[in-house]
This record gives sequence, C-alpha cells and structure tokens, in this order.
Amino acid sequence: MLKIEDINKSYDTGKSKLHVLKGINLNIEQGEFVSIMGSSGSGKSTLLNIIGILDEADNGVYELDGVPIKHLTEVKAAEYRSRFLGFIFQSFNLINYKTALDNVALPLYYQNVSRKERTKRAEEYLEKVGLLAWANHLPSELSGGQKQRIAIARALITDPKLILADEPTGALDSKTTHDIMKLLQDINKEGKTIVVVTHEPDVAAQTKRNVVLKDGLIESDTFIDQIVL
Ligand code: ADP
Ligand code: MG
Repeated sequence: MLKIEDINKSYDTGKSKLHVLKGINLNIEQGEFVSIMGSSGSGKSTLLNIIGILDEADNGVYELDGVPIKHLTEVKAAEYRSRFLGFIFQSFNLINYKTALDNVALPLYYQNVSRKERTKRAEEYLEKVGLLAWANHLPSELSGGQKQRIAIARALITDPKLILADEPTGALDSKTTHDIMKLLQDINKEGKTIVVVTHEPDVAAQTKRNVVLKDGLIESDTFIDQIVL
C-alpha cells in the first residue's frame, strides 16, 4: 500500500536549516491500522503530510499503491489525493455554512458526481457514523464528537485506499475519544488502511501497530495487542 525509503525533510527557517526527518523507512500493507507517536516537534505531522501528498520529501522514495509520488504538479497531487486518500484533522475542518450532509458529500462534488448520487451516498455514510438524523444540521449545532464523525464520513465517502488522521481525538474528551477510536477500529475491520498521528498512548494502544519518531528517525516500530473497544 505504502512504501517509504530513506526520506529526508528539512525546513529552511531563514538563518538555519531544520532537519526534521533524517532517513525514514516505512512500509504499510493494506488493512493495517498504524499509529505514529513522538514528542511535540518530532516530525509526526511532517511525515503524515508527505504521506498525504500535502508536502514533499527532499529526497528518498515514496510509493502509494505502487504509484511513485515525486515532483507532482499541484493538479496531479490533488488528483492523487482525491483518488487515494481520506483526511481527518484535529479541528474537524468542516465548512460552517454547509449542513452535515453537504459537508459529507463535498468530495463527490469535486469528482463531478451527480447531486442525486451525492445525496444518496452521503446519507449512507451519515448512517454508518450514526448521524443520519443530523443530516440537515449545521456544524455549529453538533458536539465535537459528532463533528468528528461527520469528518470521518466525509473522509470515507470516496472509498479511499488510505485514511490519514492527524490527532483526530486531540480536541475530544476521553469518553468521546473512546467512541471515535471504536469507530476507526470498526472501519479498519472492514478492511480500510488507517494511519493515525497521536501523542496519546491510550489512542495508540487502540491501533494495531505503533511507530515512534525520535530525533528524525523511527525509534521503534511495534505490532501491538490492540485494545479492542
Ligand atoms: P509534530 O507534528 O511531531 O509536532 P511537526 O512535523 O509539525 O511535528 O514539526 C516538526 C518540526 O518542524 C517542528 O520543529 C516545527 O516547528 C517544524 N516545522 C513544521 N512545519 C514547518 C514549516 N512549514 N516551516 C518551518 N518549520 C516547520
Ligand atoms: Mg503535529
């Protein structure tokens, strides 16, 4: 599904260069549920953004589903993101003036799917995350956990190969975190590959494999006995 070989990434911060990723190697197979941990500033988001084709490594190899990802135009990068990937963010990133249903359906709009089909599929995915009754509500009328469920439905609606989540439970209380991780476990059980960045050990314990970043390298990479929720 995903092959990363000897990736480096530096940021130019004016007077000095910040070398964030110093030779990362990572293979992820279809159906895995991987967490990436590491202290603040260790490069978790940088790595996830490279995987998500939102940023590019300075060198090394990145292949997604057998497709080399290198020197893409912004149009091509957007096409690959839309074809391969679903994103979930800490701050949900919903559009405030659109209903839950329209938020979920939005990725299909960009794929030129008809309105009728978009509505049908959005209802299907709202049902999947338990929020069909909230279809016509605005994000401001939803709790944090409900907003993240909407964002998860939006990430799933294009049936992407890979779901990427950067601190998906970072803004949620512990009960809601539990519910969201249970939903991600259920989605993974249906075969979806998921990569979650988190600084919470409890969240990592609910995935199946834990990768720890330290000093620009992978410090450990462990298959874990997942706590099934
Ligand atoms: P994490 O997600 O693990 O907290 P990040 O990947 O966001 O870490 O950041 C790693 C390091 O790179 C941090 O020191 C951060 O300040 C720096 N950094 C991240 N993005 C940029 C950028 N666009 N420009 C300059 N420095 C950056
Ligand atoms: Mg981060």
